[in-house]
Amino acid sequence: MKTFILASNNKHKIAEFKEMFKEDIILSLEEIGFNEEIIEDGTTFLENALIKAKAVNNYLKRKNIEGAILAEDSGLCVNSLNGEPGIFSARYAGGHGNDSLNRKKLIQNLKCKEDKSAYFICLIVKYNNDGSYSYVEGKTYGRIISEERGDKSFGYDCIFYSNELEKTFGEATKDEKNKVSHRGRAIKALKEII
Ligand code: IMP
Repeated sequence: MKTFILASNNKHKIAEFKEMFKEDIILSLEEIGFNEEIIEDGTTFLENALIKAKAVNNYLKRKNIEGAILAEDSGLCVNSLNGEPGIFSARYAGGHGNDSLNRKKLIQNLKCKEDKSAYFICLIVKYNNDGSYSYVEGKTYGRIISEERGDKSFGYDCIFYSNELEKTFGEATKDEKNKVSHRGRAIKALKEII
């Protein structure tokens, strides 16, 4: 059994990680007492994941704690919007993490677009205390629908119609989503390298 510190405060992401890492221990930032603000001003998913990883590693050094860090950055990319909202997925409509406003803005911006295809991407960095790191990514494909379906999960889930599940992620059970999701796939790839 290994212990990993997950550089996230997003309770939905933490739950998905814990669900898919049943054989290991996943500690959230709250659980290690980290409450500093991390400014994610990178220009790619990898840069943002590394920003989170380094901030947490500095904290661990100050506290004399050892432990491998998992830093995740994810988002939704819509093809006809040149990959938007992408790295801005959490703050697409302005303030950080207003899922409902983010979904409304996306539906609005796609109203006149014929191509509503999109994919979720998840990039996970495994960051070691000596500064070395490796990373994996996972993707899942679908399209954006103009009305919300299902109330499970978070973010864009209830407007993301999965090609594989033939329903939205908001309608899927946890297991169904984890099997095909960007995060599920990135975690599967991660398990092969740790
Ligand atoms: P992050 O915390 O900066 O990585 O923000 C990722 C954002 O992308 C989230 O706030 C959601 O808006 C969106 N997102 C990422 N993964 C998912 C998912 O599995 N379902 C729905 N939305 C997601």
